Amino acid sequence: MTSDFCEIIEVSARDGIQNEKTLLSTAQKLHLIGMALDAGIRRMEVTSFVNPKRVPQMADAEDVVAGLPRDWGARYMGLTLNRRGFDRAVATGLDEANFVVVASETFNRKNQGVSTQESIAAFSDIRKAADVIEVAVTVAAAFGCPFEGEVPLARLMQVVEACMVHEPFELALADTIGVATPRDVTERVGAVRRAFPDIPIRLHLHNTRNTGIANAWAGLEAGARSLDASLGGVGGCPFAPRATGNIATEDLVYMLDRSGVRTNVSLDTAIAAAEWLEAQLGHDVPGQVMKAGGFPAPQAA
Ligand code: ZN
Repeated sequence: MTSDFCEIIEVSARDGIQNEKTLLSTAQKLHLIGMALDAGIRRMEVTSFVNPKRVPQMADAEDVVAGLPRDWGARYMGLTLNRRGFDRAVATGLDEANFVVVASETFNRKNQGVSTQESIAAFSDIRKAADVIEVAVTVAAAFGCPFEGEVPLARLMQVVEACMVHEPFELALADTIGVATPRDVTERVGAVRRAFPDIPIRLHLHNTRNTGIANAWAGLEAGARSLDASLGGVGGCPFAPRATGNIATEDLVYMLDRSGVRTNVSLDTAIAAAEWLEAQLGHDVPGQVMKAGGFPAPQAA
């Protein structure tokens, strides 16, 4: 049964732009974050604490966090892949760290340079240290791996169970390369809910094969509470071949608004923000509702 509220986590300032050739300034990133706040977003992934040589767009992580507006009651999170990144996140005073473990061995090594087991050990280590910051875990490649192909449900659940031992406050399943279908989402969110009925589930979906918005709906029906999305549908992973954008925030808001699921996000303001981001990036972005507009169209006075 779908809840009547869905939390949208804006990830354009992190996943959305990390693969873009155009490097945005810290001021542009803060402007983007400000526009998302203005649209009603109250939880955002704002940066990642990774090696700036590998992801140059995220080199100003500390500066972005230092400039975050703190008077909107918003919660901000930063992506971390290891202990070093986590310690940087804690030092900035962010509200949440999002720690990534990849369900497939090969992608874990490509993405974070160690085995899945070593990432889980690092997560355990972090959980012993973390009482100043909330820690979520994201299991990446939860629906398929760019290198190994299918990720069996049993393998996913092994990794989820190993992470859950260390008590994250939230568990996210990420379709990093956009291969999931609604049936997969129903199956995997359902399996996690049966195994761990109390953990809030977030979904991180990419629209690489045009299944993203259908997957979002399937996820909500299966009991996910929160969805990552990026304005304009921008996004991609530097370490996954042919990865493309997240589901577009404004497309998601449109679907949910018209379906009677509250998001507290303004469609028109989100569209304006997506248009602004598109102009900064200097190329067309994948979002669709920003091209067509909402429905019904605003009446002329
Ligand atoms: Zn992603």
